[in-house]
Amino acid sequence: MLSLLLLQETAEGDFIAYPILVFFFLVAIVAVAIYWYTTHCPNCQRIFTRELVKKEKGGLLPTAISGKERRTYRCKQCGHEWQKTVYVGD
Ligand SMILES: [Zn+2]
Repeated sequence: MLSLLLLQETAEGDFIAYPILVFFFLVAIVAVAIYWYTTHCPNCQRIFTRELVKKEKGGLLPTAISGKERRTYRCKQCGHEWQKTVYVGD
């Protein structure tokens, strides 16, 4: 699909389109890789199966002060639960 798009663009003599499309393609791959890395299930490695179970403060201080929040996620596929500390706000 993408290679077809690239061929059509270059056949029309539009040399600018080719590197831009490759660039966006690479950015999309990196974005998906980062998204996978941050949201995949650590047990079955599946993506798009994570659901938020609960949020708690991530340390001794309230979230509004420390900015830390501990989130518990559950995988809809295998039922695995895991926790992650995230920084929210500033
Ligand atoms: Zn899983």
